[in-house]
Amino acid sequence: MPYSYDDQNIFAKILRGEIPCKKLAETEHCLAFHDIAPQAPHHVLVIPKGAYVNYDHFAKAATDAEIVDFTRFVGAVCAQLGVCPTEAQAGYRLISNAGPDGMQEVPHLHVHILAGANIGPLTA
Ligand code: 5GP
Repeated sequence: MPYSYDDQNIFAKILRGEIPCKKLAETEHCLAFHDIAPQAPHHVLVIPKGAYVNYDHFAKAATDAEIVDFTRFVGAVCAQLGVCPTEAQAGYRLISNAGPDGMQEVPHLHVHILAGANIGPLTA
């Protein structure tokens, strides 16, 4: 089944600059910004700039350059947040929800970075 991307989703609007976000970092292919309703002391969303609905769409359709950039960027953002578990007490969780069973709200691929004390249950 082909993937259908809704370019009116909220993250597409953020990428087009139509609505603001609290930007943390950016590369050629990716953007990281703070979640509007944080569920942990650090709650950052990382998205590709390309029009991908979810992880499996991205894995199938993205270029190697996009995939490498996204993978490295998620790690770099964790480092920027100072939560890499090389530091005492640090650590993080990565969550990417997909589809109705995954309780995905915004239909543009995003990885939640959740970090800080009391990260909580496996939801985002
Ligand atoms: P999902 O449930 O799709 O995995 O997560 C979507 C996330 O996007 C939620 O954590 C929600 O708080 C966040 N979100 C929804 N609308 C906005 C917005 O306009 N700006 C930002 N920064 N985050 C948003």
